[in-house]
Amino acid sequence: MARPSYDLAIVGAGPIGSYTSILLRRMGFSIALIEEHPQIGRPVQCAGLVNAGIVSLPEMGAIEGSILNRIRGADLFSPNGTRLELRARTEKALSIDRAAFDTGLARRATDLGVDILLGRKVNTVAGSHGRWTVGSIGIDGASHVKAGSIILCDGSDHHLRRDLGLTAPLEFIPGISCEVQVDPASYDDGNVAIFTGKDIAPGFFAWAIPAGEMGRLKLGLCASNGGDLRHRLRRFLGSDALRSWIDPEGGRVRIGELSLTIGNVPIGPVGPYQRGILLLGDAAGMAKPTSGGGIYPGLLAACHLARSIEATGEGAGDAAFSRFTRSWKRGYGRELRRSMMLRRIVGEIEDHEIDLVLQKLRDSDVLDYINENGDIDRPFTLAAGAFSRDPSLARMIPRFLPMIVRALGS
Ligand SMILES: Cc1cc2nc3c(=O)[nH]c(=O)nc-3n(C[C@H](O)[C@H](O)[C@H](O)COP(=O)(O)OP(=O)(O)OC[C@H]3O[C@@H](n4cnc5c(N)ncnc54)[C@H](O)[C@@H]3O)c2cc1C
Repeated sequence: MARPSYDLAIVGAGPIGSYTSILLRRMGFSIALIEEHPQIGRPVQCAGLVNAGIVSLPEMGAIEGSILNRIRGADLFSPNGTRLELRARTEKALSIDRAAFDTGLARRATDLGVDILLGRKVNTVAGSHGRWTVGSIGIDGASHVKAGSIILCDGSDHHLRRDLGLTAPLEFIPGISCEVQVDPASYDDGNVAIFTGKDIAPGFFAWAIPAGEMGRLKLGLCASNGGDLRHRLRRFLGSDALRSWIDPEGGRVRIGELSLTIGNVPIGPVGPYQRGILLLGDAAGMAKPTSGGGIYPGLLAACHLARSIEATGEGAGDAAFSRFTRSWKRGYGRELRRSMMLRRIVGEIEDHEIDLVLQKLRDSDVLDYINENGDIDRPFTLAAGAFSRDPSLARMIPRFLPMIVRALGS
């Protein structure tokens, strides 16, 4: 069964695929958005913490109903329990209901006239510039659409891209998250908490994020070498650091588990335009190397793309995609590349060194700078600002100094 021709076929109706289709549909392009799952937003593989600046991106009225909490602060715990409190005067992040977020974007895309083809897994992409055939398989068998251009927003699943000979992000970091109900609860629901250490989350970190009503939390972790993630999560749920954050009075915290998801965060940006196919979001390794947060960078990329198409005035094709690639690499892509240095540090740092760094930051004037300028989506810019205010921070762990110097000069 053949389907009609479109200007664009976008593969994957995650947040980046849906948002890209909204922006490009507004510019008048006909779009098929193809999603393998029968339902948008499920399964959820995300902790749902996004930059508060997201609401000022175009068309973000679509996600209003998905905001659960407004976040101003973070409590960072080092392996020995040292606690660093970051408190901003303004909102820095939002805790969102990720399923509602994705659904809101997809609904807006449909309202604008995007054809969303649900329950269809794309398994073949054939053709070249301007003439593509995208084949998919669904409950009613195989079908294909014809399209002038292709954008892959298929997330961390690398199968299709591997078949097409496209480059994969450098590293896939396994993560697990769950939603829990805690009782009693006396944490501040305007703060998140980050927990570090090889015991809990080797090479990355664990988190606690308020999820709406008091007592409801999103808990999870990513770990470089994966291991038994369920076991790691259980250990984290039972840890003294988490329990004392939830209830500093030291009462007995009962944690009731509500849901569990496992997924991969692709880290390490790849060239977004390869073999005539554009990649956006996790497909292009656009998540932040330090935290795995990929929603805001992917949405930003979609905005960049819309601007590049407008500037070239030659439709959503080769000229616009090449222009996008150049401007992305010079702009936010540079932040991502430079943040890979921080990723290496996070991956290699020893527990006692994290203890030292957090202790030093607690006593440093740099804390005011971080509170004022902290931006969860610009970790390198923040670190570089902190190093220039207090160079002794960059020298604290001498083996990382050459890496830091290289990244600062790049
Ligand atoms: C445990 C965990 C916690 C996270 N927490 C956060 C967080 O707090 N904040 C944050 O910003 N990011 C977080 N992330 C990362 C975030 O989930 C991703 O960066 C984000 O989902 C990327 O969006 P995307 O649209 O690029 O990809 P996805 O959301 O993965 O969407 C891709 C879509 O493509 C579809 N698809 C794949 N292959 C095909 C195919 N062949 N045919 C048709 N459809 C296909 C999939 O079904 C999916 O719907 C987390 C990730 C994990 C694993």
